[in-house]
Amino acid sequence: MVKDLQKFFVHETAVIDEKVAIGENTRIWHFSHVMPGSVIGAGCNIGQNVVIGPDGMVGNGCKIQNNVSVYKGVTLEADVFCGPSMVFTNVFNPRAHVRRMDEVRPTLVKKGASLGANCTIVCGVTIGRYALVGAGAVVTKDVPDHALVVGNPARLAGWMCECGEKLGQDMACPVCKKQYPWLAPDRPSDQVPGQDTVTPDSEAMAFVDLAAQQKQIYPQIMQGIQRVLAHGKYIMGPEVRELETRLAQFAKVKHAVTCASGTDALLMALMAMDVGPGDAVFTSSFTFVATAEVIRLTGATPVFVDIDPDTFNLGTQKLARAVETIKTTRPDLTPKAVIPVDLFGLPCDYDAIQEIALAHDLLVIEDAAQSFGGVYKKKPAGSLGHAGCTSFFPAKPLGCYGDGGAVFTDDDTLAGILRSIRVHGKGKDKYDNIRIGINGRLDTLQAAILLPKLEIFPIELEKRNQAAANYTGLLSGSSLTLPTVPKGYKSAWAQYSVLAKDQEVRSKLQEQLREKGVPTAVYYPVPLHLQTAFADLGYKDRDLPVCEDSASRIFSLPMHPYLTSRAQEKVADIINATMQAL
Ligand SMILES: *Cc1c(COP(=O)(O)O)cnc(C)c1O
Repeated sequence: MVKDLQKFFVHETAVIDEKVAIGENTRIWHFSHVMPGSVIGAGCNIGQNVVIGPDGMVGNGCKIQNNVSVYKGVTLEADVFCGPSMVFTNVFNPRAHVRRMDEVRPTLVKKGASLGANCTIVCGVTIGRYALVGAGAVVTKDVPDHALVVGNPARLAGWMCECGEKLGQDMACPVCKKQYPWLAPDRPSDQVPGQDTVTPDSEAMAFVDLAAQQKQIYPQIMQGIQRVLAHGKYIMGPEVRELETRLAQFAKVKHAVTCASGTDALLMALMAMDVGPGDAVFTSSFTFVATAEVIRLTGATPVFVDIDPDTFNLGTQKLARAVETIKTTRPDLTPKAVIPVDLFGLPCDYDAIQEIALAHDLLVIEDAAQSFGGVYKKKPAGSLGHAGCTSFFPAKPLGCYGDGGAVFTDDDTLAGILRSIRVHGKGKDKYDNIRIGINGRLDTLQAAILLPKLEIFPIELEKRNQAAANYTGLLSGSSLTLPTVPKGYKSAWAQYSVLAKDQEVRSKLQEQLREKGVPTAVYYPVPLHLQTAFADLGYKDRDLPVCEDSASRIFSLPMHPYLTSRAQEKVADIINATMQAL
């Protein structure tokens, strides 16, 4: 390091490793150590015996007091205060003899937050903007913006002004008079943010508990809505762009084009790929109607393919056979595309599908409406076809408070066409119309609601996976067929769906569960090839036997990230008791 070019100060006893960036006017004091890959912003004050990194991220204007370690995985935004001897952890369940450094859970401390002396931040949490963690507190859950949390485990004890004063009952700062009416207006102040909601036995259980999720991020959602109301850009506002950037990062693709629903996402993808009359589009019959409806809307012909009995996803050999059959028996149709549906959150077998697609020159449009957050061989759901489509319908793994969706793609040209189709086929602007499109935009308000939801989404996915594993453990003794997740796959667990022995057993189980306050659902009672809307395609009973068999005995149990193990035990007890009585 060329010391005389430095515009920052490092005490002679401090150690600064290679590949470190330090901003202007930052001061680093005695015996501190900045490890490789770390970035420290401008105007920071780093006290004595502080360790940063490797790959530590410290924003501008942070103040880090003596004896603090900002490990890999910890990100401090601007103006964060770390009190003396406070502690970040980065591995949740460390063992000296097990190497876990590749399991680091990221911790995010947002702008302006203060972490009191001697407090401990357990890894994986997010500390909201201008939150204050009391001295000695142990933070185990996310802390909302402006929250004051104290104790072990840290509990909500009030709300803080940006200036550092505690807000009064009226949500106003007694000193600077700033007001925060949107901060949890009716949350009892003794309630712990993020504490598991205990469902009393008498109370009905939720199939998807959106209220429990809202409790976690209520202030952030209200702030997002408030910001949109303040700037007034209701159509294609800045939140839409920010969301698209973050979604693309999440799905590891170049482009995320948000739109008005999952159905529009599929329709726009088909339109952008010029699918139309005379084209055959192959898809599963065991899916939500939207998947095949959009094929019809383009004028193309849906060809329904049977499913794999273990995963309920498109059977790949069956797909190959269906393509051959169309080629030999339907000279009026050109096989053009396949829409694999990642049912219940589990991605399809894309290696096999891509091989068939390559052999027959088919486009692959992934219906990831249920699988956003899932993974196939290290690749995120949504990134597995030429285009991937997802839905933000409220009950999907990542849902907004209305309708919404997105198309993902790495193809620059396709992304441009999708953006044009989304706004009536616009060229230079919406009054230059170069193709037929739709009004398919996502509302700015929905984007603002999705942003804080996306932030907790990785944690929620983890919790869904834990809930699924818990069900599987609790129900392994029953004779139900439980969901399987092949090696190298990760499900987003939109649904936890099981197969009963037959329709009668399913009815009995559903009835017993309903009586005891446990909701269940059947996805899907009638496969699409037998729906009236597709009757003219000429399918009949027994054409797709695995779909039909599954439809007759499948049902789904309550599934969401806030499901308590107690609730799951109750579900399992009812199922196990009912099965024994049969
Ligand atoms: C929900 C869903 C859709 C449609 O999404 P919307 O946002 O409701 O339009 C499409 N395909 C599948 C498999 C779905 O589950």
